[in-house]
Amino acid sequence: MATNRTFTMIKPDAVANNHTGKVIDDILNAGFKIIAMKYIHLSTSQAEGFYAVHSERPFFRDLVSFMTSGPIVAAILEKENAVEDFRKLIGATNPANAEEGTIRKKYAKSIDANAIHGSDSDENADIEGNYFFSQFERF
Ligand code: GDP
Repeated sequence: MATNRTFTMIKPDAVANNHTGKVIDDILNAGFKIIAMKYIHLSTSQAEGFYAVHSERPFFRDLVSFMTSGPIVAAILEKENAVEDFRKLIGATNPANAEEGTIRKKYAKSIDANAIHGSDSDENADIEGNYFFSQFERF
């Protein structure tokens, strides 16, 4: 399994607020290479499938409804130590707790509308990348 890749989504709030370009710039400036990228509007079942691990959490319906509220940008990224370095770049789940300079600190407004997703393990990076991209859509 590749340990140098992670998966991200620029979430509907950041896309709607025209932060897509700035977020991609931050990602590239941090040394990540884009392996695959697509701009899509998730269906309810696609969002439910992606977040199935959270299906018992009280915020699950809010999360699905937010993630289907507008288009997102999904991407597979490559860099040494990708998963951990990307989690550092995006900052804490709740932007109120995110460090200065992180993507969530700069562009997110709340814990539900928190601008960006980043995989939390190599295993999940692989699963999430495969959820969005076929083997023919990446290098
Ligand atoms: P992440 O790995 O930092 O994205 O955080 P989690 O895996 O814990 O949660 C997944 C996503 O669910 C977060 O990025 C938020 O968008 C959302 N989320 C987490 N906690 C809450 C909450 O308390 N309320 C709502 N509405 N959404 C939440």
